[in-house]
Amino acid sequence: MRPAVLNPLFASAETLPGLGPKSVQPLKRLLGEEPKIVDVLFHLPSGIVDRRLRPKISDAQPGSVVTLEVEIEEHHAPPRNRPKAPYRVVATDGTGWVTFVFFGSNRGYVERSLPTGSKRWVSGHLEFYDGMLQMVHPDRILDAEGLAKMPLIEPVYPLSDGVTQGLVSRAARAAVDRIPVLDEWLDPNAVAQRHWPAFREALRTIHLPRQPEDALPESPARHRLAYDELLSGQIALALVRTHMRKRSGRPSAGDGHIVRQIEAALPFSLTASQVRAVQEIRGDLAKSERMLRLLQGDVGSGKTVVALLSMASVIEAGRQCALMAPTEILARQHLKTIQPLSDAAGLRIAILTGREKGREREALLANIAAGDIDIVIGTHALFQDVVAFHDLAFAVVDEQHRFGVHQRLALAAKGQAVDMLVMTATPIPRTLVLTYFGDMDVSALHDKPTGRKPVDTRVISSDRLDDVIHGLHRALESGARIYWVCPLVSESELIDAQAAEERFHDLEREFPGLVALVHGKMKGAEKDATMARFASGEVRILVATTVIEVGVDVPEANIIVIEHAERFGLAQLHQLRGRVGRGDAKSTCLLVYKAPLGPTAEARLKILRETEDGFRIAEEDLRLRGEGELLGTRQSGMPGTRLAAVENYAELLEMARKEAVLILGKDPNLSGTRGASLRTLLYLFERDEAAKLIQAG
Ligand code: ADP
Ligand code: MG
Repeated sequence: MRPAVLNPLFASAETLPGLGPKSVQPLKRLLGEEPKIVDVLFHLPSGIVDRRLRPKISDAQPGSVVTLEVEIEEHHAPPRNRPKAPYRVVATDGTGWVTFVFFGSNRGYVERSLPTGSKRWVSGHLEFYDGMLQMVHPDRILDAEGLAKMPLIEPVYPLSDGVTQGLVSRAARAAVDRIPVLDEWLDPNAVAQRHWPAFREALRTIHLPRQPEDALPESPARHRLAYDELLSGQIALALVRTHMRKRSGRPSAGDGHIVRQIEAALPFSLTASQVRAVQEIRGDLAKSERMLRLLQGDVGSGKTVVALLSMASVIEAGRQCALMAPTEILARQHLKTIQPLSDAAGLRIAILTGREKGREREALLANIAAGDIDIVIGTHALFQDVVAFHDLAFAVVDEQHRFGVHQRLALAAKGQAVDMLVMTATPIPRTLVLTYFGDMDVSALHDKPTGRKPVDTRVISSDRLDDVIHGLHRALESGARIYWVCPLVSESELIDAQAAEERFHDLEREFPGLVALVHGKMKGAEKDATMARFASGEVRILVATTVIEVGVDVPEANIIVIEHAERFGLAQLHQLRGRVGRGDAKSTCLLVYKAPLGPTAEARLKILRETEDGFRIAEEDLRLRGEGELLGTRQSGMPGTRLAAVENYAELLEMARKEAVLILGKDPNLSGTRGASLRTLLYLFERDEAAKLIQAG
């Protein structure tokens, strides 16, 4: 259980003074459904405003944030016939004049806060306009008393729609008072050497900075927090790993007869990296240690076949396999790829998702339990309690980053010493493999199946959407099959679905009878039916939200249009583009952006035009994000650390990894005094599942 000392941090953010149920609503958009105090605290500033600059007006530099000490001279309210005109207030400090400008402001407010003849300290962004110094909507208007309380260095927080700086900083300042004093979990020598503050001090320094450097990623306080997070992650991974490997494995070595049958049924020859990956995996399966291996391979690199050939060895040894996918569509996709091959080899396979119901489900579960099924393909439904295997020996988990560690464990718990293969289509740079997967063995599929043609990628402004439509008319005449991916509008599937629906109607008007729509709000069966109509060619344009992102395979699809490409992360665009270029026809990817493009978005689109190598794209992605663009996990397609942007803290990550090994080597159950603090650390970063493994022993 979470130590009681952490309770204040895990209380609802609603309980913060000045932050009732109502003001928590917008915070939810920023911090998630049930924001806790710790979530407020871990929402770190992305910059600061320095209000220490207090020049005389004659010395003040336009373009900077300044605090001016002035006497209010004159009010110029907008004339009655032009109520929309700005309200101007002129003030002086004896060295010059400045005008404070308010648009659409409430008159009373301006009159009250800047009474003529009074002395005020006014802080904000100074600019030069029409020969005058002016400050539009000052950030702060203070009297002497207010000035004394004004923080000189103000953190600036990343925001989302409808959330104001004021709200977030109010919440953060209040939250800082709730941080309990916690026993140090870090090595005191390391802390001293790096001049790191204690955990509580670190958070205080960041949210109530005294120096501009305090809040920034380079500060000792930020380093300390990043390290705390990385260390908790590395300890959690090490615990899970130890747990998985504790019971030694069972060798599953087959005689190769099923493998040969499948290979004979393959309509293509394996790529060199597929052959190597299968060898590596089969080698692991035959060992008496437990396998924990990551199979990385770009979209379309052919991971499913590798998984099937590996499963074949286990089936030859008389045992069962499970293949778990994150979505229904993907599970069915695997079934489709595997079925013809497994049929040829006489394997018994079944699919289990939320959709199999009633008698059919009962029968299926009975067959799995009796060992009459060799491979069960499924979704989350696979690790429900009712699912029991006769002898599960090998679990393949696709698109791993969508599953949590505990889900992986739940699946592994359904068999004895289950070997585990994790497949991911997001090529992950080495540094990140370490963070997300720990030191797993890795197989990578670097080469694409032969016959794949490069995708012609073009970047087009949305001003030219008419040209795009025109081009599609022509392409359809020569038989094209088209994905049209709709913009990611919000974090809400509902809103995304609405946007997709609108676009669907537009295109339906343009191409009557040829268009279908899939989005995340549709029921499974409905989605499948629509995909099937697209796959069969009954409809030729599939309008989709990102539900098609992973895994969907329609080899005839040869054009993909991605609207608002600037809103997608690099990895995600790459995934989407991977939907085409799988068949014989020449393929095109149209990245439609809305101008103006920011520099990072521009760089992203340029990389996509230059390369289709997923590993290079992943590296570039990391580099670009390292340059400051804050991408949410949804956009990058990768699980995020909260405090430690890994690209900034590669050295700390390595240090955390080593320290985790050292710690658990000395005290595997975290039972010593430092062990107890380290458990607190695990709970602090919500590694509850891993922490529970210690108790379980
Ligand atoms: P992913 O790695 O994205 O999961 P899949 O396993 O779905 O890729 O494979 C994509 C498609 O490529 C499937 O239709 C599969 O049958 C086919 N494929 C796999 N390996 C090869 C190969 N060596 N040569 C040609 N086609 C292949
Ligand atoms: Mg796949």
